[in-house]
Amino acid sequence: MSTPFIRGQMMEQPLLISSILTHASQAHATTEVVSSTATGAVVRSTWGQLAGRAAQLAHALDALGIKRETRVGTLAWNSARHLELYYAVPGMGAILHTINPRLFPEQLRYIVNDAADQAVFFDPALLPLVASLAADLPTVRHWVALCNAGELAAAVSEATAAAGKALAPDDAAAAQATMARRLAALPDLRDYESLLQTQPTTFAWPELPETAAAALCYTSGTTGNPKGVLYSHRSTLMHSLVSIAPDVLNLSARDTVLPVVPMFHVNAWGLPFSGGIVGCKMVMPGARLDGDSVFDLLDSEAVTISVGVPTVWLSLLQTMRARGRKPSALKRLMVGGAACPPALSDAYVNEFGIEVLHGWGMTETSPIAALAAPRNTTPAEVAATLRYRQGRALFGIRIEIFDQAGQPVVHDGRSTGNLMVRGHWVADSYFPAGRAQSPLVDGWFPTGDVANIDHEGIVQITDRSKDVIKSGGEWISSIDLENAALAHPGVAEAAAIGLPHPKWDERPLLLVVRREGAQVTREQVLDVLSGKVARWWLPNDVIFVQSLPHTATGKISKLTLRQEYRDYRFADVEPIVTHAARATAAGQ
Ligand code: ADP
Repeated sequence: MSTPFIRGQMMEQPLLISSILTHASQAHATTEVVSSTATGAVVRSTWGQLAGRAAQLAHALDALGIKRETRVGTLAWNSARHLELYYAVPGMGAILHTINPRLFPEQLRYIVNDAADQAVFFDPALLPLVASLAADLPTVRHWVALCNAGELAAAVSEATAAAGKALAPDDAAAAQATMARRLAALPDLRDYESLLQTQPTTFAWPELPETAAAALCYTSGTTGNPKGVLYSHRSTLMHSLVSIAPDVLNLSARDTVLPVVPMFHVNAWGLPFSGGIVGCKMVMPGARLDGDSVFDLLDSEAVTISVGVPTVWLSLLQTMRARGRKPSALKRLMVGGAACPPALSDAYVNEFGIEVLHGWGMTETSPIAALAAPRNTTPAEVAATLRYRQGRALFGIRIEIFDQAGQPVVHDGRSTGNLMVRGHWVADSYFPAGRAQSPLVDGWFPTGDVANIDHEGIVQITDRSKDVIKSGGEWISSIDLENAALAHPGVAEAAAIGLPHPKWDERPLLLVVRREGAQVTREQVLDVLSGKVARWWLPNDVIFVQSLPHTATGKISKLTLRQEYRDYRFADVEPIVTHAARATAAGQ
């Protein structure tokens, strides 16, 4: 028998995504939601209008036969229409499945089929991609282009014309005929605006259980097939409520937010929802994410906070340096998804006075789980470098590091272990329920990251376990090597990978992209590294490359690099550092 308790006498209201929309439309009805379109023109809306259109969309989905639990896919960039889908689909009880258009076609096919999406809403520019995939996606009964009727007609002609580009006349005609056939075969192809047009602008959002599924996002599947992470209304609200806090994103109605992170990358890190909770102005950047376009939009819309992966901030920094100023109102940037190199955050803080919030998370953690923000008691010298690490766990998340035997590792800021997390917005299994074993170990989710934690609870990710360079039984942090290389002003981007070595198991190879016009040499890179890492960590070779491969979410793809350099042999397979030198470096 369970122990009796006295029930608290407070209203029980489920934490539902629809409550955010209702709130935003009442308390922040006139606050703007701005979208940059494919042509660079800006379309203006408000939270009030957005709520009306989300209601129209919910009616339209009903009319299409979309039921509770049905998966509705989106293949789209950040826009107000995408935001309407974010609220209407989970609001009516269906499941929003955001899909990354940058994935390989076979991954896209796998994901849509695995999710069994019944409708997919897509950006018209992606029509050729949709046409090439649709025949292999039997569950999709409706294809809706996020535009009006005229724009869809134009996209259809453009896709057909483009299919024949750069081909000999006969081949061009055949390719165009194939494209036309594929487009005509798309089940129920229609445009979004006509779908909404005659629908009422209010909707009775159902009172669902808060544990009901709301959104589905697949991991990028760097090893094996992508895995579906199924967020609930409750986990989404908890994540959003905590992430607006002063020591997290410090988000308020006084802010203007531009999520550069795409809405298909872990729900744009919750901003579509946290933005609705605080009722801030939202600026949706569409597909134009280069440094110049992002700068212009940040500037013209007076954005105060923006959020994205380090590569995006690298290109914005180049634009800011070239123009000699920061976007007019920009106060802070959140950086996550990959380690933010100290040289990058130093440049924003010291050259432009922009605050950098370094956060850590993953698809399975909704994603924000830890974030670096100083306290009053943080010594000045630590405060200045806190952003080099990934910060403290948010309230609602617990973090711990464990050794290979599963024992907790001491929090001394040096000893590393496998990072495990648990909390209100951490996945306990993958979609669909019951297919695969739960990944949890004693109630903890193993992140696959290696980290240390200091006595104040500040976590530092030293590597992904699959990227750690295992040399002579010890570990070299690829992130530390990269960060050290990036301290050289001539280095624009760097990636360290471990390659097989007959004596040491693995040794580091460093790949470097030079900053435009910079003359940096191998010796100079090794020199700068020598001052920052132990001698036995020094890479056996440094190779200069034009560019580095990136994943579909904008991170450097170590997997691709390891494949590309699989056959690479260090010129001197003898280690460049001897046992004796290693002992000296370690102070023995
Ligand atoms: P994927 O990179 O496979 O697309 P995620 O977006 O879920 O999937 O990536 C999560 C991973 O990204 C984390 O496990 C971690 O390795 C890395 N990551 C995220 N943020 C940071 C950060 N601030 N510093 C270092 N690594 C990070």
